[in-house]
Amino acid sequence: MKWRIIRLEEVGSTNDYARGIAEESPEGTVVIAKRQTAGRGRKGRKWASPEGGLWMSVILKPEKTDPRLVFVGALAVRETLAEFGITGWIKWPNDVWVGEKKIAGILTEGKAGKFVVMGIGLNVNNEIPEELKESATSMRELLGREVPLEEVLPVLLKALERWYRVFEESPLKVIDETRRRTLILGKFVKVITDEGVVSGIARDVLEDGSLLLETEEGPLKILHGDVSLRFR
Ligand code: ADP
Repeated sequence: MKWRIIRLEEVGSTNDYARGIAEESPEGTVVIAKRQTAGRGRKGRKWASPEGGLWMSVILKPEKTDPRLVFVGALAVRETLAEFGITGWIKWPNDVWVGEKKIAGILTEGKAGKFVVMGIGLNVNNEIPEELKESATSMRELLGREVPLEEVLPVLLKALERWYRVFEESPLKVIDETRRRTLILGKFVKVITDEGVVSGIARDVLEDGSLLLETEEGPLKILHGDVSLRFR
């Protein structure tokens, strides 16, 4: 991949910026901002993005828009953390956790048949806001030292490229690896879906990327949802 990096001091959201330029930009264009003033998670939830974190969005032009692309980002982040000695797990579908805390989120958006923008927010050296201290962590906190963003970025881009190639060749290989690296399988979880709240044991990530939940009423396939784990 020929990466072309656009660096911004500050932006509302790198995903919004990337979406705005995506149609006329080549695949591999990466938008990075030091700070996001309106960083977003799914459903418009706020993503805290003070200086020190890696806030970026990658423009991709896959043959087809595929919701499973989110796992390419999650696997790449997991692998990047591993390079720095941190063991992270994918929390289906779009987060990476270390222990009981979130360290990264992936937000894929796009225009069918035109482009996909993959936003990756990774807590590197940034402060974690007070209200998230219980549920979020950073590389700095885990390693006890700052890690220059310039060291993290090439590792992440390399991993992204590799998993993107694997995906183009065979999405099922990406699903297989996602299964192996998913935190919640075998655990009792509560899932908030648009249809309501369901709970059960997370059994599998299926070929289409959905979560298979074993509920008291039988197996249930979940395409979209927010999973919460009961740690204790
Ligand atoms: P999830 O996929 O976990 O539901 P979202 O994609 O909706 O998460 O991301 C937004 C949520 O992530 C926020 O509601 C907040 O709880 C949490 N959050 C916000 N900023 C950060 C951050 N920098 N690091 C970790 N978690 C964060």
